Amino acid sequence: MDITAEDPVCNRKFALEKAAAAEEYKGWTYFFCSTECQNIFNGSPTTFANGPAPLYPDP
Ligand SMILES: [Zn+2]
Repeated sequence: MDITAEDPVCNRKFALEKAAAAEEYKGWTYFFCSTECQNIFNGSPTTFANGPAPLYPDP
């Protein structure tokens, strides 16, 4: 089953397997469309990490 992830920085949705980067924070794994978004996240994780990382099953 394909899983869709949402980038917490730019809110873009993409297939999990296409994630450019992943980051663990407070027990949740967040996925990013690019390392730029990962860097922004790391600069201010509390801004973007609000609870569970959003993952959506493909319709
Ligand atoms: Zn992004």
